[in-house]
Amino acid sequence: MSARRVRDHEGEVTGSALAYKEITDLLRALRVKEQFLASVSHELRTPLTVVLAHLELLVENEDLPPSIQPQLHAIERNALRLGSLVGDLLQVAQALEAGLELQRTDVDLVALLGETVETWRAKVDASGLTLRCETPPRMFASVDRQRLRQVVDHLVSNAVKYTGRGGTITLGLQGDADHLRLCVSDTGMGIDEAEREHVFAWFVRGDEAARRLISGTGIGLHIVRTIVAAHGGEVTVDSTPGEGSTFHVTLPLAPLAGIGE
Ligand code: ADP
Repeated sequence: MSARRVRDHEGEVTGSALAYKEITDLLRALRVKEQFLASVSHELRTPLTVVLAHLELLVENEDLPPSIQPQLHAIERNALRLGSLVGDLLQVAQALEAGLELQRTDVDLVALLGETVETWRAKVDASGLTLRCETPPRMFASVDRQRLRQVVDHLVSNAVKYTGRGGTITLGLQGDADHLRLCVSDTGMGIDEAEREHVFAWFVRGDEAARRLISGTGIGLHIVRTIVAAHGGEVTVDSTPGEGSTFHVTLPLAPLAGIGE
């Protein structure tokens, strides 16, 4: 983008003018990028659903020789991975699209956390983990319910993925007159100090996550940060490698929301 100096009649610089056309071009390019992301994710999802449906039939088909099962399972695993990548991309596209258009309502955050715990219960039990909530009896805030649920789901999903059997995941909620603080702690593998500030960027995965072959796309925390920023808040992480991590989400309380008894 170019800027031109504006001078008064004595030649003194009094300001600068940005070329309007260049700004419009830039905005248009950004818009095209978002639309491209959204349509590519949609277009990929349909054929993938068909592939997965046929694969499921093949895996369950008892007439097929057992020797081809390992290959079928490998195809299924990778198609599922692709499915979760496409799902993540769709969420990014939606978060970008809805960036300035949150659907805020007064939401009972304690109930929202309770629902998240219920959704994760079976997976948590199967992974040999303990999941607990430390919340006040009720807390209301004016937030986009669906988007905040996405935030909590991503953080819990990561805590489950990166914590070994016997570990504990804790969801915490606190608030004062101006802010609410939501945290998700785990006793998992932790994040190296050098990586901590980068894990919220697009497609960034920690070395340890990749070394342990834990599947992931590096998109989840970017979605979390996008949604939290749209609410005017911020997300940070504290971590000790080998001991665990705590993700803190701080949101300013929008007017009319308050803390219940
Ligand atoms: P993904 O988990 O799909 O790789 P994310 O964007 O959710 O992508 O996370 C980025 C990286 O941050 C992960 O690859 C991992 O290295 C690290 N990370 C995120 N959450 C945790 C956690 N609870 N414990 C340890 N590492 C984590």
